[in-house]
Formats: sequence, structure tokens, C-alpha cells
Amino acid sequence: MPPRIRTSSRLGTAALTAGACLLATAVPASAAPHGFTPGAPGAGDSYFPAEGNGGYDVGHYDLTLDYDPAGNALKATARIKARATQNLSRFDLDLKQLTVKSVLVNGKKARFTRSGQELVVKPAKGLRKGRHFDVTVVYAGTPKPIERPDIGKFGWIKTPDGAYVVSEPDGASTWFPSNDHPQDKATYTYRVTVPKGTQVLSNGEPGGESTRGGKSTFVWNERTPMASYLAMLAIGKFQVKKGRTASGVPVITAVAPNRASELKPIHEGTIKAIDWEEKVFGKYPFQSTGGIRVGVDVEFSLETQSRPIYGFQPDQDVIVHELAHQWFGDSVSVKRWKDIWLNEGFATYAEWLYQEQHGGPTAKQTFDNLYKQPESWKYYKELWTARKTGDPGANQMFTLTPYYRGGMTLQALRERIGDKAFFALLKAWTKANRNGNVTTAQFVALAERISHKQLDGLFNAWLYTQTKPTTW
Ligand SMILES: [Zn+2]
Repeated sequence: MPPRIRTSSRLGTAALTAGACLLATAVPASAAPHGFTPGAPGAGDSYFPAEGNGGYDVGHYDLTLDYDPAGNALKATARIKARATQNLSRFDLDLKQLTVKSVLVNGKKARFTRSGQELVVKPAKGLRKGRHFDVTVVYAGTPKPIERPDIGKFGWIKTPDGAYVVSEPDGASTWFPSNDHPQDKATYTYRVTVPKGTQVLSNGEPGGESTRGGKSTFVWNERTPMASYLAMLAIGKFQVKKGRTASGVPVITAVAPNRASELKPIHEGTIKAIDWEEKVFGKYPFQSTGGIRVGVDVEFSLETQSRPIYGFQPDQDVIVHELAHQWFGDSVSVKRWKDIWLNEGFATYAEWLYQEQHGGPTAKQTFDNLYKQPESWKYYKELWTARKTGDPGANQMFTLTPYYRGGMTLQALRERIGDKAFFALLKAWTKANRNGNVTTAQFVALAERISHKQLDGLFNAWLYTQTKPTTW
């Protein structure tokens, strides 16, 4: 997402906005019979201890939803294909607010309890390590967004004629039971039934639509593994434009009818951005692209996989930013949220590079302009002393620090290792970690390998001190 505080990198002024977090308890490994033990209730992320779960790995989510926009009423069945990574006596899924009617594991009725955002499932029989298993959760209710002071509303958001979803970092559980942490990527099928005349857009590619008895069902498939926070639906009325990028990637752009004038610029801006980004970052990582402009103005846009959601009219910088995330964040995802600069610093730097190569200021000029701002500058603390870029804190992930100081870190690196190594590094990083999860330490190691330079001093100064770096 774009930062909450958006100083234009041309150092104009502020304007836009974007988008959160908690602590985990260790799982009591109360040994069940035969060495089967409960899966952990969290994925082990210090920023969001309850987010995600342990003991299994999801391969695919098949989500069948029936949604009535008039009453904001959701009736749904989630079929989850997973593999046990330990001998499991029980396991958790993350699900907020909605009511669970039944849970089946491998077709057999399972016991379940709710505890906060945890849906705790106890299968009739223990699940052996390495084995695949299916979970079917039937649930219903009135989906609601989560609200936090630092992000605003996220998760399932109602609009006058439908709804849409933007879930970073932990809002996926507002609409489907999931292993809600970027570590556990999976493919998705969505089958969404809505009143006839209402449309449904999503990640990936359309898989057909049918109408019967006053209702329409839309199928979408995301075939490339995706982090749960990037799963997206946009339900309502839309104008849709289709096309292809220069390299042949199908493009589907959609805008709400009251944003019709934005269709052409978003569609063309998307193609222009992807064409440029493929040259700089390497092959586009997914099977289609596009963008969706919802009909309400909200606080943020999000890089939902393959097709970002725009909550405000995006300029070309925002389009470049959200699409750069397709490489940095969506395809190459964080292993822990503390490394959020690997998403936001890179997407911000993509904007600076795009400007550099399209008649705007060079990334070096943008860096220099930020670096020379005096202590009286309103964002001075945000950049230099408020927090660490490489560990900003769960409630400060979407502040200026990971975005702008993160981008400056990359410019400092570029100057140190030279353009040739720097641009080779960007492509090597996206290629080596495609569909994967990464840490800052991995990026530092790859940068050192490609540049043949020792860079720990540079990264330490830029990412892990709360002072303005003077040497690096
Ligand atoms: Zn972003």
C-alpha cells in the first residue's frame, strides 16, 4: 500500500494515505496419545502472534460465497486442502466475527471451538505428519472490517452496492477461515453468487459466470500461490476494460460507474507500468494483471495479487507502486512482518526509478532532497529517529520510515555497489525468491554475493539505527 503520509518524492507536499498489529502465546504441547500434539495458534510472528497457525501448510482454498449486498449477509463454505507438518491432534484456523455452522475434516464431522480469532478444530482422528487433509468449514454472518488507528478500516468493507476486501496485514480472517500469515501461500478458487446485475472481480483469471433464478455466480482462479492478505473480492457494478501488456500478460481493469473517467488512465497506466517494470525487475510473476477502482474514496489502496484495489484516484506513481509490489511483496513475500521495508521500501524506490527514467528527478536527487531536509521538517523524526526501518514495530509498519528510509536504503546501496550490480541484484532477488518468503538477512547476503562487497555496515546504518546515517 502507499504510505499513510505521502510526501511526494518530488518533495511537493503531503496528501495521501495507506495502512497494523499484537503478541503470541506459546502453545502448550500437551501431548495427546501416540505423539499427536496441537498445532500452534500462531505462525510465530512477534508483530502478530495470533496471526497464522502452526502444524500444517495450506495448498488451496476453494471459497464458495453467497453474498447479499442489501443485507450485507454472507453464507459461505470454505474447502481447504492442506498437509500436516507434524502429527496433529488439533489445529487452528483464523476467523474473526463470523458464525461457524459445521467443520468437516476428511469428510468426517470435527469438533470445534472459538477463542478470539482462533477457530480450533479437533478432527475425529489425529492427522499424520506429511499427509494431505481436507477441511470444510460452513459459516455465515455479517462480515465487518477491522479498524485500527494506524490503518483505518480494513478487511471486508461494505459499499453502497456491494463490498470489497483489502486485508493487509490480518484482515483475511474477516471473510474466510485461513492460515492468515504470508508464510503460508496457497492457490485460490472463488465461486461467488450475488444478485443478478451485480458483478464480482477478484485475483487471477475469470473461470466463467452463470445466471440462474435471479442470481449470478462468478468463478475466479488465482493459480499462483498467494499470501492470504492479498486475497481480494470486489463486488458491485463495474465498467471493465481488457487488454494485454507488451509481453502478452492479460489485463483486466475495472472501475465503479461513478469513477468511469478513471478507467482509461488506470488501464493504460497499468500497461505502461508493467511494461517498464518487466524490464527493470524481470518477468511479471503472475498470469494476469489489472486494477480495480472502487466507487468509494477510502484511506488506502492495496497491492492485492495480480490486480490492485485503488481506494482513491491513483496517479501514475501510485500505479507504479502497487504494481511494483507484484514483485516485491506479492511474489517475494516477507517471512516476518518486521521486514515490511522489503515490500514498502522497494515499491517506493520503484516510484523514484520510474520518475528517473520518465523525465522526472533522478532517484539520487530524490534521495538528496530528503537527506538535506532540516531538523525542523515535519517528517524529520519519521525518517531518522522515530523507529528502525528494519523493525518499525507492529503499529508503525505503514509509517513513513519503511517507505522512504527504505527507499533511501536502496539508493545508498546503489551508490555503493554501482548500477550494474544493483540492477542485477533486483532481478536476481525477484527470480531467486519467486513465490517464496524472505528475510532482510537474505537480501543482504545476496547483495554481498553479487557485488563482492561487505555491506553489513551500510545495512546496519540504514535499517537498524535510529539516527541519521552519516557514513555507510
Ligand atoms: Zn506499498
